[in-house]
Amino acid sequence: MRFINSYARLPETFFERIAPEPVAAPALIRLNRPLAARLELDPPDDDAALAGIFTGNRLLPGSEPIAQAYAGHQFGQFVPQLGDGRAHLLGEVENAAGERFDIQLKGSGRTRFSRGGDGRAPLGPVIREYVVSEAMHALGVPTTRALAMAATGQPVFREDELPGAVITRVASGFVRVGTFEYFAARRMEDELRTLADHVIERNHPAAREADNPYRALFESVCAAQAGLMARWLCLGFVHGVMNTDNTSVSGETIDYGPCAFLDHYDPAMVFSSIDPMGRYAFNQQPTIMAWNLACLGGCLLPLLDPDETTARAAGEAVLERFIPDFTERYREGLCRKIGLPGDDESFSLARRLLDLMRRSRADFTNAFRALCDAQAAPAPFTIQFATAEKIATWLNDWLALLDRTGSAATARETMRAANPAFIPRNHRIEAAIQAAMAGDFAPADRLIEVLARPFDDQPEHAELAEPPRPEERVTRTFCGT
Ligand code: AMP
Ligand code: MG
Repeated sequence: MRFINSYARLPETFFERIAPEPVAAPALIRLNRPLAARLELDPPDDDAALAGIFTGNRLLPGSEPIAQAYAGHQFGQFVPQLGDGRAHLLGEVENAAGERFDIQLKGSGRTRFSRGGDGRAPLGPVIREYVVSEAMHALGVPTTRALAMAATGQPVFREDELPGAVITRVASGFVRVGTFEYFAARRMEDELRTLADHVIERNHPAAREADNPYRALFESVCAAQAGLMARWLCLGFVHGVMNTDNTSVSGETIDYGPCAFLDHYDPAMVFSSIDPMGRYAFNQQPTIMAWNLACLGGCLLPLLDPDETTARAAGEAVLERFIPDFTERYREGLCRKIGLPGDDESFSLARRLLDLMRRSRADFTNAFRALCDAQAAPAPFTIQFATAEKIATWLNDWLALLDRTGSAATARETMRAANPAFIPRNHRIEAAIQAAMAGDFAPADRLIEVLARPFDDQPEHAELAEPPRPEERVTRTFCGT
């Protein structure tokens, strides 16, 4: 592995140099071989060696482990110091194609930023993050990825005693909005500029050529996040803890805690046990992202212009475009889900469908998937709805618009590429976690394999596409920290 470690070259105020804390009995649970190949790692065929590497017991040559400093707004409250309290950035590697990846262990022990925490992660949340982040990738959503998971052989103590594990995550960078807030709160302007330069170099290289590179950086982050929010909303994904420290400036989905996918369509859905007010409800996510980006904009002010009024006007002008930009991408995405071009008429037809889905509590994923074939076979689609008459009218309007826009012939293929057959359903993840805690990793492995091809029918795994029975429904998810 060729380590570059550009973050470890930044000033010492950016991180703590610290090695992972060794664990008692490392055991490899899973290595993501396709991802390892993309990183051009050449993993040994020796599970004991791999277990050592992916728990942090064994450091690879060239790795310079650090815990990154960051701050963040948690549920709207500013916390001046958070940081990697249980994660270690092992370093940054580059493949022959010039793609750069940060590799990080999570659950790998205490750091200066642990604030009384034990630095560890229970097996359950590690499995959830592995399954969901890899599914998100296969669904075409920018995200951190999961390279490996390994058991520590050590218990972690939460409400119960739980098995401990470490997940190895890969990202195009782990800088968060909260990283900028860390330096802005301390009025460390040189460090802010250094951080911005680093993020431009790593994640937003086109900004370097702009008249005002920092303004272009802000625009580029906002654009990436607008696209990300559109994808989340088109797939029914609820992040659950969109704090600014869990918002990546690369535009990748990061920090899978109490995340969940909608089963039935309820736009106000909240799953997270720590979000009783519904701040991070499904349909609040774009607005919350705008709020988080406003925090980023505030941090960047001194870089945007030496004159504060001018800087503020520049920042606000960028921010003002976020919701329209999101709406544009959401319109395109939603119209693709019904096989139509992204014009106003198609968009309003798509939103009428969402409204019918809400009233019927129709399964979000299965209703859209059944619509793919509804020109030839409408019944599997219409039975998803309680209001037979209304959905019949909608279907007629849809067929008419397909004809009028000349989309009828291409709609099925367009829709099958936008409407997955499989999503990581909460009850399936829960069952896979329960099995894994009892020592059986087969259900988790099966989920991971099926979700690697979410747009393929895979009839032999049809039951993984079924919504939960009432007694299986997961209505609360937990951070599991
Ligand atoms: P999260 O809610 O997972 O985004 O984490 C918020 C903050 O708490 C971050 O600074 C984490 O590093 C820290 N944290 C979460 N769990 C632990 C833990 N078990 N030990 C130490 N720090 C933790
Ligand atoms: Mg976090």
